[in-house]
Amino acid sequence: MLYFVSLEPNKLIYMMKCVYCGKELTPGMYRKDIYGNVAHVGCSHLCFCCNRLVTSKDVKLPDNRWWCADCQQKEVVTNQHIEWVHTRVRKMLAVHGIDDKKWPKSLTINIVHPKFVPGREPTTAHKFGDTQYSPSLFSKSYNVRMLDHLHRIVFAGVLAHELLHVWQFEQGISLSRQELTEGFCNLGSWVVYEQMNTPLSKGMMLRVENDPTPIYGPGFQLVKAVYDNLGNGSLPDVMKELKKM
Ligand SMILES: [Zn+2]
Ligand SMILES: [Zn+2]
Ligand SMILES: [Zn+2]
Repeated sequence: MLYFVSLEPNKLIYMMKCVYCGKELTPGMYRKDIYGNVAHVGCSHLCFCCNRLVTSKDVKLPDNRWWCADCQQKEVVTNQHIEWVHTRVRKMLAVHGIDDKKWPKSLTINIVHPKFVPGREPTTAHKFGDTQYSPSLFSKSYNVRMLDHLHRIVFAGVLAHELLHVWQFEQGISLSRQELTEGFCNLGSWVVYEQMNTPLSKGMMLRVENDPTPIYGPGFQLVKAVYDNLGNGSLPDVMKELKKM
C-alpha cells in the first residue's frame, strides 16, 4: 500500500505502510511480493509457491511451507490436472522448436511430498521438481517428480524445466558445464511463463531472471544471453551454441 504525502508543492515523497501491522516501512527494511504488496520482514510470510505475501486466510502446511489461497485454488492434484498441464507445456515448448512428436513414451510424472530439511525453505525452482532417468537395453525411461501443492502456472514452469532435461537425455546431449544444462532448462521455464502471460507467470519470469541460486541463476544469465543474441526463439538453436561453449 502506498501513501503519497506532499510536503512541498513540487516535491512528492511517498511513505509505505506494512499490509500486516499498518506501520510505516523504512526503505530497504521490507519485502515486496510480485503483486506489489509490501510488509515488514518480521510481520510477513511468503507463499512457498508463488511468493505472494500470505494473509490470515492462508495456511501453513505441516512441513512449514506457507501456502496462499490462490495457489490452493489452482493446485495441481490429480492425474487429469497433470495431463492438462503437460499437454499445454509441450505445445508451448513446440512453439520454441522442441518437437512435440518426439517425446519418449516411457515418461511418467508424479507428485511427491518434499523431503523436509529443517531450517531450509523449499523456495527455489530446482527443488520444485527433478527427473529420474533409467537407461535400459531396450528403452530409456523417465520419471519426473514434482513437488506437491503447486499452482498450475508454477507447475507448468517447473515441468518445462524437467522436460528439457528429458529432451537433453533423449538427444544424448552432455554439455561441458552444469550451468549450461540447468540454464537451458530454466530458459524452458522462462519461455513457458512468457507465453502464459499472467501476473503470476510474469512474476515467475522475474524469479527465474533474478534467481540467486548458484549454477541455476548464473546459468540462466549465460543461456538467456545466447537466446537473445540468436533472436529467433529456437531452443534447439540455442543448444547448438551451448554445445560449442
Ligand atoms: Zn508490519
Ligand atoms: Zn501462492
Ligand atoms: Zn534441472
